[in-house]
Amino acid sequence: MPNLRFNALKEVGSRKPVVITEKGKRSELFGKNVFNEEAMRRYMTSEAFESVMNSIHYGIKIDRKVADQVAAAMRDWAISKGATHYTHWFQPLTGTTAEKHDAFFEPVGRDKAIEKFGGGQLVQQESDASSFPNGGIRNTFEARGYTAWDPTSPPFVYGTTLCIPTIFISYTGEALDNKTPLLKAMTAIDQAATEVAKYFDKNVTKVTPTLGWEQEYFLVDKALANTRPDLVLAGRTLLGQQAAKGQQLDDHYFGSIPDRVLSYMRDLEHECLLLGIPAKTRHNEVAPNQFELAPIFEEANLAVDQNSLLMDVMNKVAERHDFVVLFHEKPFAGVNGSGKHNNWSLATDTGVNLLAPGKTPMKNLQFLTFFICTIKAVCEYEELLRASVASASNDHRLGANEAPPAIVSVFIGEQLTKVLDELEDVSKGKLSPEEKTELKLNVVGKIPDLFLDNTDRNRTSSFAFTGNKFEFRAVGSKANCGKPMAVINTIVAKQLIEFKKEVDYLIENKGLKKDEAIFNALREYIKQSKKIRFEGDGYSEAWEKEAAERGLSNNKTTPEALKANISEKAIALFEEMKVMSRVEIEARYEIELEEYKKNIQIEGRLIGDIARNHVVPTAVRYQNTLIENVKGLKEIFGNDYQGVADEQIELIKRISNHIKMIHSKVDAMIEARKQANKLTTAEEKANAYCNKVKPYFDEIRYHCDKLETMVDDELWTLTKYRELLFTN
Ligand code: ADP
Ligand code: MG
Repeated sequence: MPNLRFNALKEVGSRKPVVITEKGKRSELFGKNVFNEEAMRRYMTSEAFESVMNSIHYGIKIDRKVADQVAAAMRDWAISKGATHYTHWFQPLTGTTAEKHDAFFEPVGRDKAIEKFGGGQLVQQESDASSFPNGGIRNTFEARGYTAWDPTSPPFVYGTTLCIPTIFISYTGEALDNKTPLLKAMTAIDQAATEVAKYFDKNVTKVTPTLGWEQEYFLVDKALANTRPDLVLAGRTLLGQQAAKGQQLDDHYFGSIPDRVLSYMRDLEHECLLLGIPAKTRHNEVAPNQFELAPIFEEANLAVDQNSLLMDVMNKVAERHDFVVLFHEKPFAGVNGSGKHNNWSLATDTGVNLLAPGKTPMKNLQFLTFFICTIKAVCEYEELLRASVASASNDHRLGANEAPPAIVSVFIGEQLTKVLDELEDVSKGKLSPEEKTELKLNVVGKIPDLFLDNTDRNRTSSFAFTGNKFEFRAVGSKANCGKPMAVINTIVAKQLIEFKKEVDYLIENKGLKKDEAIFNALREYIKQSKKIRFEGDGYSEAWEKEAAERGLSNNKTTPEALKANISEKAIALFEEMKVMSRVEIEARYEIELEEYKKNIQIEGRLIGDIARNHVVPTAVRYQNTLIENVKGLKEIFGNDYQGVADEQIELIKRISNHIKMIHSKVDAMIEARKQANKLTTAEEKANAYCNKVKPYFDEIRYHCDKLETMVDDELWTLTKYRELLFTN
């Protein structure tokens, strides 16, 4: 068989950038395929429109008759956009999106047909969902699950299908998706934050969390990727000798975007805009062939939906450009991996960002309240945040000296640190008039000025304050942002409720004025949450030590990290905030462990297969050439052959040794898998795969990579790192 690798390289050599012609101004394309307010107004009666708006803003139920009207409008609009089918579009716990298409078309009588889509089909659908992860919530005989319309995220036409964002729940009402807990967490923070925001502005009636994600990814040519079973099946390279050049020259970050990639990006942005995803920024990332896309932030639920949709769109557009998108957190050893920074803030319905300082001391006290409560919440529940981004693939990135460590810490910058230090010294109880004036003029009053030169940006922090939002950087590039978003909003909601209680208590029982009570509560929070604040180098070993002394968690692996989710503290939190029940939490724990195990299992099978069926045969082929060569030398030089064949003989021996090691390590790994499979609980299995199976991967890889350096390049079948990373 011809060498796939060389065929692929030849194919890539002849590729040209796809020509992209932009159809009209981008601003005019924006949201064209989204059933947004404008489309709703055009297609709906005012009664239906009002009803949907009330549902979006106040969660008021839409009655059946109106639902029929809404559905008819949606259908007519979708058909005008070329849609023939509709689907409930949801995010099961697999981490991806799911859809099942039904045609609008419906025969009536013998030879007539209509386009039908009623309120019933819009609002709720039953689906046989036993094939989605459910953590034992549903027995297969009770395999019904329901998807139910989420009116807060607008439907869109994707290809020829009307997609209706929905939640996904079991017959018995438990959430089976990532959206449901997020929506509940958003309700929790809305209530809690609105109450607190009212201290500062009585007109606030709603607070919405916002999310601006930044999506990092790698692009690899399709033909090259197809020569690598590991990339195709696991999304990452399980072996491969590092290229002579990686990212050490820093010449890729923000560099000029390669032509084929730029075409891809333009095509992608075009699709994004039609779907209402406000794609704004594109650039090269640190590693070769690594890039980033960031949109303008949105209300969190919509932003999560858009990110899930984006990943799907990215794959589809990539096909047109003969690329494969790698969303894996660590596709290549030795160069940076990919993450998905989650920029998070809170917005009021009066148009105020609660994490942005304002123009008056009172507005700044409002900012400080939300700022400090967030820090306190993160301090209290750091382990849950870590757990919210745990996955087999993200384990490769967290703590790998290029991404935040598995330790969660908050960075706020030198100047805000000073402000908190001063607030920590505020007197207990009532404040003297002098102290109040001092606070107003020199502490709280100064905050906006600070931001003018707030340039110190610590890139090594996992939870950093960046001027008017927090940026959670430990989120995996493949992850559904709904998980960390649900946790952030839940823990901050809980903290704000406690804050409100505390302040009200001080006002009612201690006779303090509102601002005095707030200063008093904040002072204590600053003290209590000091251990989570860290301004130094988060990648350093010294920090790991210090964090341990501070009592911060450092859960390096997924099975370790996930345990935090089922602690009594976590269950109490989620139940109290009405985000998830114990049953749901325990089911999710099972599902995530199971998913972890499966991922490691797949990688284990793959590396065994590649090592034995690709690497070893290639090495043997090359060894045979060497043997032939030595035989030939013997023929020519007779007994003196050794002097001229030393190197070759040595190489033959070394190759044999690596082959032997590969076989014995693969055997041992297979045995470890067998033992792991015999265990009964998901937890035991995940731990065994983590601690007994996975360690073989690096050992097997070591010998394979050594062989790659020895074997004739012309024989090597797996596309090499330098080709994967530097061809486009
Ligand atoms: P970087 O982290 O790459 O330096 P920025 O700090 O400028 O970039 O972050 C930009 C991201 O932050 C964008 O995705 C943007 O949408 C998001 N963002 C900006 N303001 C907010 C906000 N109030 N809430 C949530 N996300 C925001
Ligand atoms: Mg960022």
